[in-house]
Formats: sequence, structure tokens, C-alpha cells
Amino acid sequence: MQYLKLPIDSFKPTAGYKNAKYKSSWGYSHYGVDCVSASGSRNLYGLGDGIVVAAGLDGLNGKTTGKGSGCGFCLVVVYEDCYDRISKESYNVVATYMHMKAMPLVKKGDKVTGKTLLGYYGNTGANTTGPHLHIQFDKDTKYPLYCCGLAAAGHNLLKKGTVDSTVDPVRLFHIGKGQKVTAPSSAWYDRWDFLGIPEIPTTADKIIEAIKESPVVKKVVEKSKGVTVVTYD
Ligand SMILES: [Zn+2]
Repeated sequence: MQYLKLPIDSFKPTAGYKNAKYKSSWGYSHYGVDCVSASGSRNLYGLGDGIVVAAGLDGLNGKTTGKGSGCGFCLVVVYEDCYDRISKESYNVVATYMHMKAMPLVKKGDKVTGKTLLGYYGNTGANTTGPHLHIQFDKDTKYPLYCCGLAAAGHNLLKKGTVDSTVDPVRLFHIGKGQKVTAPSSAWYDRWDFLGIPEIPTTADKIIEAIKESPVVKKVVEKSKGVTVVTYD
């Protein structure tokens, strides 16, 4: 099992997953998270251990902006066995990165880790109003290039997905070493979703969790219910 970290070290959201204001403004649902860097660095690092499924320009005929440019320079990475802190399950996800500045620095078949520089976020693609990363998570790893929220035409790399198997990235995000989250109040996302992102658990945290979950400890806790413990100084 792995804990995914944030795609940007100085992470600042600009639009949340299935945000209501987004839908009323753009007329369609937002199946990912939009984010920028509060520090100005546009570096995008791997979220954890993954494999690149596709990397390239989604625009038709070499178009990088405007009509026919699709989602711009894109990257698709499969991360296996990722922990969802809400459902407490782990599963494989396809992470799709859109609007990258240029061709990703990794290519199809490459292995990535949390330390791999994948490329830089930018402003390529048709529906973007400024440099940012759109990152989308999909549990359907069998068809990694099918993406919810896309128009059928105008794409060279990604395809229109019709079944919604997306998941809110915030459920899987954790704060990695040296990372931080800035989330001022905004109608474009629920700031508490982002301020609730925990740090990647340390080994000590994992041991404590394992002890709490062990059948013996659970039994002791169950037995102690209703027992008043009096302590003296
Ligand atoms: Zn977006």
C-alpha cells in the first residue's frame, strides 16, 4: 500500500472536485482538482510509485492552445495500491495531468517515484484561463485514456469517458516531506477538504495504528468499556 503525496510542493487549490460554482460557471462538472503553486515553482513531481501510460500533446495537428488543442500537454500515470483515507481502502488509480507547459519529461513505460520531476504545469489546451494543473483520478485502470468531462472531438491523446469512475483526489492526497498546503476561503472549493489533508504517516504512526487494530487490543478496549479508572497522583 502507498500514500500518495501532493503533485505540487507548495500546493494551492483553485477549483475542487465536482464544485458547484464550477458547474454553474462552465456548464459541466469538474472531475478533478485544479491547483497552482504558492511559491511560483511550476515543478510537478510524482505522487508515489507509478508507471507512465501516456505522455504527449492532446491537441490535434500540433495545436497547443485554442480550439482543437484538447487538454494541451498531458500525462497519464497509473499508481497502484493507493490509500483512500475516507473509505480506508486502497486501490489502483489513473492520474491524468492536463495543461502542462510542454512535453512531459517522462515517457510511456517509464517508472516514476515521488522524487521524479514529471514536468511543469502550464496553460496549454482549450479550456484554460491561466497556468494551473488539472489533475484527475480514475479508478478504471483498464481504460486509462478515457476521461470524464471531455468533449468527444478535438483530442489527440485522451478520449471522452462516459462512465464516471472518478474519485476526489483529496481523498488520496497526503502531505509529503517538505510539502505544504495553502487554501484561503473560496467558492471554487471547500477549503476544509484541503486543510484536512494529513501528512504521510510515519513508521511510528503506522505501528500505533496496527496496535489499535490488533484483535487482542480491540478485545481489551471492548472489555474496559464501562469500567471507571481512578488514578491517584
Ligand atoms: Zn480543472
